[in-house]
Amino acid sequence: MTEKKDDNLQKKNTYLLDDSFSPTNLTTKIVLLYVILGFIWIIVSDLAVNLLFGEAGNSQLVQSIKGVFYIIATAFVFFIVIKRSMQIYSMAISELKQAYTELDVSHKISLELDEKLYKLAYYDSLTGLPNKVLLENTVNQYILQHPDDGLIGFVYFDIDEFSNINEVKGHSFGDELIIEIAKYLKKEIKAPNMLARIGGDEFVLALFDIDHLDQFIPQVEKYTHIIRRTYLLDEDDFFVTFSSGVALYPDHGKDYITLLRHSDAAQSIAKAKGKDQIVIFDDEMVTIIKQQTELLNQLRHAISNKEFSLHYQPIINLRDDQPVGVETLIRWQHPIKGFIPPLEFISLSEKNGFIKEISEWVFKEVATQYETWDSEGKQFRIAINISAVMLMSEPFIPYVNEWVKLNHLDSSKITLEITETAIIDDIQKSIHVLKQLKKLGFIIALDDFGTGYSSLTYLQKLPIDIIKIDRSFINNIKPNTEEFHVLRYMIELAHHLNLTVIAEGIETIEQANMVKKYEVDFAQGYFFCRPMPQTRVLEYFKEINPR
Ligand code: C2E
Ligand code: CA
Ligand code: CA
Repeated sequence: MTEKKDDNLQKKNTYLLDDSFSPTNLTTKIVLLYVILGFIWIIVSDLAVNLLFGEAGNSQLVQSIKGVFYIIATAFVFFIVIKRSMQIYSMAISELKQAYTELDVSHKISLELDEKLYKLAYYDSLTGLPNKVLLENTVNQYILQHPDDGLIGFVYFDIDEFSNINEVKGHSFGDELIIEIAKYLKKEIKAPNMLARIGGDEFVLALFDIDHLDQFIPQVEKYTHIIRRTYLLDEDDFFVTFSSGVALYPDHGKDYITLLRHSDAAQSIAKAKGKDQIVIFDDEMVTIIKQQTELLNQLRHAISNKEFSLHYQPIINLRDDQPVGVETLIRWQHPIKGFIPPLEFISLSEKNGFIKEISEWVFKEVATQYETWDSEGKQFRIAINISAVMLMSEPFIPYVNEWVKLNHLDSSKITLEITETAIIDDIQKSIHVLKQLKKLGFIIALDDFGTGYSSLTYLQKLPIDIIKIDRSFINNIKPNTEEFHVLRYMIELAHHLNLTVIAEGIETIEQANMVKKYEVDFAQGYFFCRPMPQTRVLEYFKEINPR
C-alpha cells in the first residue's frame, strides 16, 4: 500500500520536475522532426514516384498528390506528437493543482497543530484557564511596558480543605470542583485581567486594570464571594471557602517571581490565621515563612536525631486525688534552639505531610512504654493526642488496629484525644471514624472542649466517652459570671449524657476546689503535677500511692 503510494508520488514528481518538458525542448523536438520528416519525404517520395511512374512522375498532378500526402502524413505525425506533449502538460498542470491543494491543506493542518501546541503550552488542560507560563509572560510583558506607571494586583488563592475533599471523595471529584470554580470565575474576569490555574487547587488572579487601591480589595472580595459557596458533588453538598494572599506590583515585588512568592506567603498566613480570608502581604511575612521553612527542615531530621521525647502528665481522680492515668505530650529538644513547644511544630508538620511520621513515632514510643509499665504491674490509662489530619486519613484505622495487635495492648486502657476542631469540619465522617475506633475498644476523649463553635449542640451525636474542658475556659472563670453558668451547664449536660468530665489546666487550689464542687470527675494541671519524663512517672505513682 505504502509502496504504491510512493510510486505515485515519484511519478508525480517526474511530471513536474522533468526538464525535457520545457517549451524550448518541445519546440526544438518538433522542428527537428519536421526537418527530418521533410528530408525523408523528399528522398523517399521521389524514389517511390520514380519507381512507380517513371518519367510520368514529374507531372504536375503527381507532384500535387505527393504534396497533399506530405501534408496529411506530417499533420498526422504532428497531431500525435503534440497531443502526447499536451497530455503530459495537462497532467503536469493537474498534478500541480493537486499538489497546491495538498500544500494548502497541510498548511491548514500545521496551523491547527500550532494552535494546539500553543494551547498545551499556555493553557491548563483541565479548566482551559491560562497556566503559569502564560501568566508569567503576561505579567513580565506588562512590567516591561509599564516600568514606572504600572499597578498590578496579584491574588494567590487556594481552596480550603481541598486535600480533604480529594481524600474523601476521590480525585475526580476534586477535579470536578476545580472545573466548577473556574467556570464561575471565568465569567467574571475580563481582559486585560487574567485568571490562571497554577497548580492543584491554586489559582492566581492578576488584575491589571486597578485605578485606585481602595477599589481593589472590594473587587477581590467580590470575586471570592462568587465562588465561596456550596457545590454539589456526587449528590453531596460541599461548602467551599478560600484563603487568599495579595501582593501588589510594584510595592511588594518588582518581578513575577517575587510577586508569586509574596502572594503565596500571604496566602499561607491566611491559612494559618484560620482560613477563609484575604491577607495582604507585608515584609514581616518573609521572616515568618523563612523561619517556618527552616523549622520544617530541622523537623525532618528530628526523629533520626532522636530529638523527640514523650512527657506524661498525670490525670487525677477528683474524688480521692489519686492519679488514674497519664496524658502523653510530645517534646522536641532542638540541639541549638532548645525546647520547641508542640503547638509550634504540630500544625506545621500537619501542613507539610510530616505529621504521619511524628504520630507513628508517638505510637511506637507509647507501645514500648506501655510494656514497661505493664511489666511493673502498673496498668493505668494512657491518653494519646491524635492530629486531625491523622484521624481523617484513610489508613488510620487499619494502622491503630495493627498497632494494638502487634503490641498486645489492651485498647480499653488507651484514650485517644481528639480536638473539637478536628471533627467539626466533617461531622458525619468523624462520627463514622470514631465509631470504628470505639469498636476497636479505645476510649475517646473530646479535647479542648469549650473553645469550638456550637460545642453543645453536637455533643449528643458524637460517640465519645470523655470531654476535656479547655484550660482557657477554666482560667477565665469567675463565680456568678456568664461563663461560670455555662461551665456548670456543660458539666451537667455531659453527666446527663454519661460522659466523664476532665478539667484541664488546674493551676490553683481555688480552681481545684471549684471543679470539685461542680462534680468534675478528673483533673489535670500544674497544681497537681506538671508533665514529666517517662523515668519519673513510676516514682510519682509510687509516691502518691505507695500501695
Ligand atoms: P493539649 O492536648 O490541650 O495538652 C495540654 C497542654 O496544656 C500541654 O501543653 C500541657 O503541658 C499544658 N498544661 C497542662 N497543665 C497545665 C497547666 O496547669 N497550666 C498551663 N498553662 N498549661 C498546662 P503542651 O505539651 O505544650 O501541648 C500543647 C498541645 O500540643 C496539646 O494540647 C496538644 O494539642 C498538642 N500535642 C502535644 N503532644 C502531642 C502529640 O503527641 N500529638 C499531637 N497530635 N498533638 C500533641
Ligand atoms: Ca490533649
Ligand atoms: Ca486540651
